[in-house]
Amino acid sequence: MADRNGRPSKIVCVGRNYVEHAREHGAEVPKAPLLFLKPPSALIGNGEPIILPPASSQVEHEAEIGIVIGTRIRRATPAEAEAGIRGFVCLNDVTARDLQRADGQWSRAKGFDTFCPVGPRVVAGLNWRELEVLARVNGVERQRGRASEMVFPIPDLLSYISHVMTLEPGDLVATGTPAGVGPIRAGDMVEVEIPGVGVLRNPVEAMIA
Ligand code: MG
Repeated sequence: MADRNGRPSKIVCVGRNYVEHAREHGAEVPKAPLLFLKPPSALIGNGEPIILPPASSQVEHEAEIGIVIGTRIRRATPAEAEAGIRGFVCLNDVTARDLQRADGQWSRAKGFDTFCPVGPRVVAGLNWRELEVLARVNGVERQRGRASEMVFPIPDLLSYISHVMTLEPGDLVATGTPAGVGPIRAGDMVEVEIPGVGVLRNPVEAMIA
């Protein structure tokens, strides 16, 4: 359920959902989806700046296929869960990689204000099997992955999540990032593109004390 500012009740994310990305961090591919949350306060829209926090010296982009939930999904089968999708959106799971390693869990590394750019629009009626997601930094391609390459396909992911927490209309699900994550710096322009959905563009800025 969206709050009075129109924000989702939660942003549910999945880690290591592409084999090559798990390998680039020396991590095992999990036997079940690895879930974590980003706070709705991290959300920004298309064109808004990602602000680099002084606490981190290694902030990275993670281009992801975002799902916007349309109808409540609770203890659903994969087919039921798929039917609850409103549409797809570009999402950047911005991550302070140094803090992710240091903290042992990811709330701080994933949770800074501006660390969840989403946009530029939600597109319905797409076949998830055909979706592809790309990242570019300053026009140079860094990431490219297909939903068909995910360890856990989208209907299975939503079903799994729905047996843990009820997905409400307006909630966001970030489905994991393909290989090629890398640093972003003040002055960069970061793009996440899903062909058929659009391009999400966000400049990167240092925090002004
Ligand atoms: Mg991610």
